[in-house]
Amino acid sequence: MLLCRLVLPTMPSTTSVHESDLIAPRFALDDIVAALDAELRTSSIPDYPGALNGLQIANDGHVTRVAVAVDASMATIAEAAVLGADLLIVHHGLFWGGLQPVVGMAYQKQRTLIANNIAVYSTHLPLDAHATMGNNVLLANAIGLTPSSGFGNFKGIDISVAGETDIDATDVLERTRAVVARYGGTVRTSVPAQGRRCRRWALITGGGASSDTLREARARGIDTFITGEGPHHTTVEAQEEDLLILYAGHYATETLGVQALGAWIEQRFGVPWSFLHLPTGS
Ligand SMILES: [Zn+2]
Repeated sequence: MLLCRLVLPTMPSTTSVHESDLIAPRFALDDIVAALDAELRTSSIPDYPGALNGLQIANDGHVTRVAVAVDASMATIAEAAVLGADLLIVHHGLFWGGLQPVVGMAYQKQRTLIANNIAVYSTHLPLDAHATMGNNVLLANAIGLTPSSGFGNFKGIDISVAGETDIDATDVLERTRAVVARYGGTVRTSVPAQGRRCRRWALITGGGASSDTLREARARGIDTFITGEGPHHTTVEAQEEDLLILYAGHYATETLGVQALGAWIEQRFGVPWSFLHLPTGS
């Protein structure tokens, strides 16, 4: 409750002029949303129903400061309000649970957003799949792996990446550990990495390990699969198939895409942005 009291200031008077209004450049929310929708191909990338990609909550129509984060959690919204952001861009949006009454935490979150004039733009698989700002390609690059093909087919679209190399699997493990450690992440493996070579790898950030993706990995001859997390049965299946899976954390593996989007908006519109780092433990 303390959190909510801190971030629920009274709405500013429409007749008052604040110093920040005089110096901060203002950009039309509609222009930024249209640019994001076009760049991310929001209307053409398939996704889960609750993802609701695109603008989820509007504001008064202007943007002066952008915040980006992985999750549209109450903690994220509170941080965005303290920052004075009027556009919050997230990978995991507000409506994952589907049609729900606006009560309890859903009410608190939407009330706080509207009271603080914060618009929310959510981009899930469109961000994962993006060729240069996607979570997948950026994580692969950060680990030092160069994608050469798509992976993770979802409703006809490859949302992720795969490639070939010839290095010790322990190198992949240590590099992955180093990358996700910057975001509080750790790495667990399905089988020991020692003594193995990584020749064909695939990568899906977030909850990428499933029977479907393991089947695709098997069919593609993948020996090393880097992902965020997956259900327990995927570890069993991986052991049976002698597949090295690196479970590098859902949150930590999905921190890069939204930051790239923040930088892209600043470059294109000149709007300052901040990354709100709020690890979830997953
Ligand atoms: Zn995710």
